[in-house]
Amino acid sequence: MASVPGREVVFARGEGVWLYDEQDRRYLDATASLWYCNVGYGRAELADAAAAQLHVLHAYSTFDVYANRPALELAERLAAIAPIEDAVVFLGSGGSDAVDTAGKLVRRYWQLRGRPERTIFVARAESYHGMHVFGTSLAGIAPNAAGWGTLVPDVRHVPLDDPAALGELLEREGERIAAFVGEPIVGAGGVIPPPDGYWAEVQRLCRAHDVLLIADEVVTGFGRTGPWFACERYGIEPDIVTGAKGVTSGYLPLGVVLCGPRVRELLWARDAGPFRHGYTYSGHAAACAVALANLDLIEREGLRERVRALEPVLAATVAGLADVPLVGATRCAGLLAGVELDAGARAAVPGLAERAVVRLRERGVLTRALVGHSLQLSPPFTISAEELAQIGEAIAAVLGELHAELEAEGVMSAR
Ligand code: PLP
Repeated sequence: MASVPGREVVFARGEGVWLYDEQDRRYLDATASLWYCNVGYGRAELADAAAAQLHVLHAYSTFDVYANRPALELAERLAAIAPIEDAVVFLGSGGSDAVDTAGKLVRRYWQLRGRPERTIFVARAESYHGMHVFGTSLAGIAPNAAGWGTLVPDVRHVPLDDPAALGELLEREGERIAAFVGEPIVGAGGVIPPPDGYWAEVQRLCRAHDVLLIADEVVTGFGRTGPWFACERYGIEPDIVTGAKGVTSGYLPLGVVLCGPRVRELLWARDAGPFRHGYTYSGHAAACAVALANLDLIEREGLRERVRALEPVLAATVAGLADVPLVGATRCAGLLAGVELDAGARAAVPGLAERAVVRLRERGVLTRALVGHSLQLSPPFTISAEELAQIGEAIAAVLGELHAELEAEGVMSAR
């Protein structure tokens, strides 16, 4: 908190993949802000959709019998594209509250099933599920869960990408396990796609032990990997999907929870009683109108096809960095990539990734350090191949420069 004053970068406007600060310096946004500005900046039709709805009815509660047309239409639209048959939809204001909602749906589900002892959530090491209390409790990025005192009890973590460890946990404690939650591709933990067969095995284990499966698609949803949801990419058939970010490209805040038949049959049953949960802005009319316009835009401009076409370009861009000094590994899936810095270099130079991010910004490229080891690349879907190449060149130049300086300082040995 104390390190920011005096160093603020104040953005004034955006256009396409470019941001402009108050001094009119321009920056190429390699991360789509926090993974959300998927259709790019300055989309007048999304502003117009919001304004039109704000003029007639900005919002009204969706508790009890109340609804509004954009919320109803959005729920229908989401059910139609969900990676779940006959999905029902719960609307909120962001990814963290979607995760909280999913957590409470799961706990309620097992109460209604007459199995209240099934309270344990299983999450993965390196995972990120937002900043509310459920998400903080589920966090596999250890520092995010530390320093708060008691969080939601009954969370277990399994190593990333290790179905055998999950299998052992289920053998041991399966009768008490409520749900497994995972990001199809780990995002904030460093952009880590799953190994082949990982999700098929997780799904098999969850089914065998009657455990609910939650796919947290807050980053991967709404076309980020090509299909509407990464569940399709990996053949995941989840019971619950959480989403946010790309549903509106961030033009207004919105979060969604999609529920499949298992959850729906109990919680939406006549004798289920009330689900005592909901947010002031659940089904916010203007946010829903923007989401509808954003989904229209993605379809009309063929942006999911564009993601598919650009994936090999981004993959080649980061693969081309493999021999650049200070690069340890690179990963890519859809329009998501991570450039991991060499472990030895990071050990020798604390804060190396953060330094690279500052240098890149000075060169006019915005990226982010993930968990201190990887640079995040998750550009708007509208980025061009030339702009992707520009990002790659900037990273190569900055890391080359940093390496030469560290060598001159005697911190690093020659490569
Ligand atoms: N889940 C995942 C996988 C995320 O990456 C995020 C945010 O980055 C969240 C949940 C939380 O979303 P929000 O920041 O909108 O609350």
